[in-house]
Order: sequence, then C-alpha cells, then structure tokens
Amino acid sequence: MNAESLPPGGRIEVWTEAGAGFPLVVSGPSGVGKTSLVDRLLALDRGTVRAITATTRPKREGEIEGESYHFFSEERFLQLRDRGEVVESARYNDAWYGTPRADLERNLAAGRCVVLNIEVQGAVQIRTRYPEAVLVFAIPPSWEALRDRLVRRGTDTPEAIEARIRRGREEMEEIDRYDYVVVNDDLERCAGDLAAIVRAERRRLDRIRGRRKSDGEDRR
Ligand code: 5GP
Repeated sequence: MNAESLPPGGRIEVWTEAGAGFPLVVSGPSGVGKTSLVDRLLALDRGTVRAITATTRPKREGEIEGESYHFFSEERFLQLRDRGEVVESARYNDAWYGTPRADLERNLAAGRCVVLNIEVQGAVQIRTRYPEAVLVFAIPPSWEALRDRLVRRGTDTPEAIEARIRRGREEMEEIDRYDYVVVNDDLERCAGDLAAIVRAERRRLDRIRGRRKSDGEDRR
C-alpha cells in the first residue's frame, strides 16, 4: 500500500502505527554539552540510538574504540568514503569526521530515531540525503557561560578556549539551516526539550505514511 491509497482517516489502525525512523542531528559550539545532552536523551527515550561516527583524530584519554568513535587511519577513512560507505563527511581541526552508512541505515530501517552529534557541514549533507532528518542546534545561555564551562573543564589553554568560542560563533551563523534551537542552561530541562521534539516528530502524519512508503526501499 502506498500513501496515495491510504484511506482518508477512516481506518484508525493505519495511524496508530509507529512512524518511520529518522536522523536527529544535534550540533552546537564546542563545550555546550552535546555529549551529555545526547546521553540524557538516550536514557529518556528508548526509541533513540546514538550513531557511532568515524574520525581520523587521535583517541583522547578515556575514549573507547567503537563506543566514542570508530578511530580510522586517514587512508582507511578515505577508502570508505570513496566507496560510498560514509553518508556525510567533513574536515574539522585537521582531521576527517564522517558517519558510516551501514549502521545508520539499519537503525533507520528498524524505525529508530538515530542521533548524530555532528558539526554544521555534516548536518547540511544529512539534510540533503535524508530530507526527513530533524536538525537541532544547541546553544549556551550566553558566550560567557560557555567560556566559564570551558575554563572549568580545564582541558584547554586560554588561547584554545578563545579559538573554540570564535568557531562556535561562526557555526552559529548557520543556525538558519536548523529546525529547532535548544538552550543548555540546565541539562535536565534541555534534554527534556530534546525528548519532546523527538516525541512530537514521531507523531507527524508524513512519517507514518513514510514508513509505509519506505518499507523495503533502498536509498542508495
Ligand atoms: P571532537 O573531536 O571534539 O570529538 O568533535 C569535533 C566536532 O566534530 C564536534 O562538533 C562533533 O559534533 C563533530 N563530529 C563528530 N563526528 C562527526 C561526524 O561523523 N561528522 C561530522 N560532520 N562531524 C562530526
């Protein structure tokens, strides 16, 4: 059955079904708390799953291969990208970052909301490839609050902190490409906003129709 042949609201069981899976992009300046925000969303909503993305940057202390990222050599990364196994990619801080296709598409096909913590260039590529994606931009309550947070984190020199803030301001110029903005003044409240966005998006009629239309479809 396709969308055109759906009865116009007459059969209730058509609309009680779950909607199609969709990518949820979360971007925002470095230090705004995207990782904690996404962790909290995953705990609040069992229908969401994190996309493990790939990078060529060195592993930081405490990071785990296959959990934090897939850590690839530049050669391997470019090979995968050239084979079309990465759905978006971007150069950031002298390293490559990208989202592997297979896991993302498997999770979308299973009807999940797949959460991608990625930067702006990648977000734009996701929007082009998956028009049904939802793009959320997370901002701090103020630039001063972001600076305080980065200072407290203690992982950067004062110069590096200023560089992150400059970059954050540049990224914010792209905010019009996004669908929603959330303010991370309080983690619990902000994660609640994100969870509310996901819940509302799931109940969109076009996603429920979309599930029927995309059943068995290959996007490549
Ligand atoms: P970090 O090196 O601090 O973990 O991440 C640096 C930036 O890269 C963050 O803004 C993060 O959201 C972004 N990022 C992480 N994975 C990907 C990815 O697969 N694609 C893109 N485009 N950006 C990513």
